[in-house]
This record gives sequence, structure tokens and C-alpha cells, in this order.
Amino acid sequence: MVIKELMNRFFTVVADPYSEAKRRKEQGQKVIGWLPTDVPEELIHAAGAFPVGILGSSNNIRLADTHLQVWVCSLMRSSLEMELCGDLDFLDGIIIPQTCDTTRALSGLWRKVCRTPYVEDFLLPKQVKRPSAREYLTGELARIKTSLEQVTGKKISDETLDTSIRLFNENRQLLRRMFEIHTHQPGLLTSREVYTVIKAAMYMDKAEHNGILRDLIRALEHKAAESAGTPDSKARLVISGGVWEPPEIMDLIEEAGGVVVGDDLLTGMRYLTPDVDEERNPLEALADRQLNKIPFGGFDNQNYERRRFLLDLVRNSEARGLIFLHLKFCEPENYDYNDMREALNSAGIPNLRLETEVANPSLGQIRTRLEAFIEMIGGNPIERTL
Ligand code: SF4
Repeated sequence: MVIKELMNRFFTVVADPYSEAKRRKEQGQKVIGWLPTDVPEELIHAAGAFPVGILGSSNNIRLADTHLQVWVCSLMRSSLEMELCGDLDFLDGIIIPQTCDTTRALSGLWRKVCRTPYVEDFLLPKQVKRPSAREYLTGELARIKTSLEQVTGKKISDETLDTSIRLFNENRQLLRRMFEIHTHQPGLLTSREVYTVIKAAMYMDKAEHNGILRDLIRALEHKAAESAGTPDSKARLVISGGVWEPPEIMDLIEEAGGVVVGDDLLTGMRYLTPDVDEERNPLEALADRQLNKIPFGGFDNQNYERRRFLLDLVRNSEARGLIFLHLKFCEPENYDYNDMREALNSAGIPNLRLETEVANPSLGQIRTRLEAFIEMIGGNPIERTL
């Protein structure tokens, strides 16, 4: 199948993200949603339920604003709006990771005003390199495992969990391979196509996603070999932030002459890395995956702090600049921003901050700022081969 046809499969999923979850529900399978991000989907899968990401929508926010202040991030406001409007009635449950004050508050609110039968918190350690973090997190994962077993009525054995871990590891490895091809030859897929494939993984059955993605990678490798050495004149960029919302932002970057070759997004590399060690006790290995994730404003990682991580990311991906893509009112990003900007400025790395919203984005001004930034950093041809 050609690349365009394969991509259409992923675009169709993202345009109607909950059709598979609803189908599973009709067939009698339990559906457990998760809010971004870091929720160990493997545990939900091993419990025989269908895990699905709840990532907000572009619909107007009305009902949620009667419960949440307008200065709460639009990702959480619009996710709550979806539930209050009845768009998430297919959910048997939801797991809410406590990554910031907003998700902490939302968890109590969801229990109080929503109809979702089962609401569970994922209580993450904030200082991920403390010696106690690993032991604590392993215990927290064991608690969620028991909680899922109770709600699904299915015991999770180590063997079942190992099988789920292998499936999800394969998905991460395939996604990273697609991203690697893209960073070496950015002309093969657009930035929006790359991130659509990643987003589709959050809505689809992983085995099905893996199958289509394998075909896509084969097609990309074939095309990459044909066009090896073709110069690429786009300005290579790194994106730092939470989520790539609104989706049109990737189109604007490309139209302005840029291409995204690296990120630290919750719906990007933080979702794809690292793998879970398949040789270890599965709960301890899941805990280690969490503790070894790339840095994010919600967690404190003294061993590999975010400033150094971003500088390394820009250099390793041969990017010309970095765009901070922040959701308005995202506290962790707001607190991190000044330190990150100073580090980039000191290293002479051009950077731009864009504030966006999941719902009702106004894109005119963003387009103008992107065009000016990408024109400023230039887009001289870069010759690369796989
Ligand atoms: S980390 Fe930011 S974007 Fe995510 S829920 Fe918290 S405030 Fe919203």
C-alpha cells in the first residue's frame, strides 16, 4: 500500500478517535480512558480492557467552565467538557495521572460531577531520582493493578502483563523508527503526518496500529532509499511543551518553511520512550520506565535536568531552533520556561514561545510569528542520507 493510503488510515482514526473504543464497548469489552499522560496502558490492556487516551477536543467549552476556572488549561477543560456533554459515555472508567495541580483538582471533580463509573488516580512521585521513588512507584503500580483487577474482574498474571509489555514496546519501537526515518529525510512525511501516527496509537488497538505502521515503515524505507541524498531546505526545529495542539500548528510550521525533527512532548517522545525492560519483574520494570522518561516540567529530575536535555536534543537533531509550544495556563511549563529560555539563549539557540489552546485556537497571529521566526533562522539546504 502506498504511503498516502496508509496515512489515510491514521487520519481517519484521529478524525473519529473513539469509534474503536465504542465498538469494543458494544462487544462487551471494558473501556478505560486515561488523561495525558504517563498512565501505564499495559496494565489496562493486561486486565482485558481497552485503553484509550482522552485528549480534549476542539469543541466549544461551556459546561466545564461552570466547574473549572477559565485559567485552567484547555486540555483539561475540554476533556471535562467532553464528559459533561456525554461524548465519553462509553467509558467504564478513567485513570487520572496526578502530574500538576490541575489534574489533582480534576480528579476530585470528575468523581463528583461526571458519570464515569470508575475513577482512579495515578499518584506519581515528583522527584524521580530519589532513592525512595522506585519502591514507592512499584507499590503504586501494584495498587492500580489490584484496582483494575477489581473493576474488570480479571486477574493480571505476570505472563499476561509481560505479553502486554511486549506489544506496547513493539509499538514504541516502530514509532521511534518512523520518527528516525523522518528526522533523516523530513521530506517523506510532513510533521503533521508524523504526529498523527503517534496520536492514532493512543486511540487504536495496538496490534492493529503496529500492523499498519510496519507497512508504513517499509514504504518509507523504500522511498528513502530512492531519494537518498536529496537536499532538504526546510529549517529543522525542536518542539518543547505538552501537546501539539491545535493540530494545525504543524501545518503552519511546515508552510512557514520548518519541519519538526525532535520534541519532548507528552504526545511525542515522552510517549515513545523508553521501553519497558522485558527481562525484569513487570511492575518494577514499568516503574523504571516511568522514572527514566525524558524530562517534563511536572517532575524534578536532578540527574538529567531539562535544560541540559533540551540543549542535547537541539544539537543531536541538528535543529536550527526550538519552539516552546505551551498550552495557556499550563503551570509546569510556565514555571520551567524562564530557565529553559535562558539556557537556550546562553547557548545561542534561537527560540520562540507560542501559547496555544486545544479549543478555539486563534491561528492568525501564530502564523505571523512562526513565519518571522523561521525566516530569521533560515533554511539552508542540509544534505542528509539514511
Ligand atoms: S501539565 Fe499543563 S497541560 Fe497538562 S494538565 Fe497540567 S496544566 Fe494542563
